[in-house]
Amino acid sequence: MGCAAAPGKIEQHECVKPVIIEGCASCGTCIESCPENALHITDEGAKMNYDKCIACNNCIFACPNSLIKLNWDKMDEFIERMTEYALGAVQSKKGKVGYMNFLMNITPDCDCLPWSDRPIVPDIGILVSNDPVALDAASYDLVNHQKGFENSLLHHNYHEGQDKFKGVWDRVDGHLQLRYGREIGLGNLKYDLINIGSEI
Ligand code: SF4
Ligand code: SF4
Repeated sequence: MGCAAAPGKIEQHECVKPVIIEGCASCGTCIESCPENALHITDEGAKMNYDKCIACNNCIFACPNSLIKLNWDKMDEFIERMTEYALGAVQSKKGKVGYMNFLMNITPDCDCLPWSDRPIVPDIGILVSNDPVALDAASYDLVNHQKGFENSLLHHNYHEGQDKFKGVWDRVDGHLQLRYGREIGLGNLKYDLINIGSEI
């Protein structure tokens, strides 16, 4: 996603434009947060103009009553778009790109958010590969092999071998990104782990 131009970032996100759930107090806070004037107040509370919305998600974090939510029903499409953009960023650079995953300070939210939280598992190390899907598959497995931290946003799946990402985000299928990456030719799911250094 980071390699996409701004319109590409919007295209990846726009399938998960937020939704407003019931209970709006018409306070107007979300309207002030919207850079595109895509929100307005009606007799039935705040409404969104989806033609104007660019899915920046500012309003989700602005609502004091947490009434604006991600559209989780479209999350699979979002993950697929993100994977396609990853392929687009590297497909003309075959043999020229290396990949590194820093499995350290593994926190629950996307790194585009302006905050962080406690890590959900202990630090693991740094992984390097020329196959981004195999690298992510290995990283995913290594994180899940850890014992989760109870004083974190994990709310289940604390035990070794359980899916830590589902333990934070129940409705996200982390394997989808890996399966789809293999399907569209971004890389392979199989990997061999070769330890070339001491543990951190
Ligand atoms: S997601 Fe962004 S652009 Fe869309 S309504 Fe909310 S604040 Fe406005
Ligand atoms: S911030 Fe929340 S409560 Fe206030 S108008 Fe927007 S949706 Fe309604």
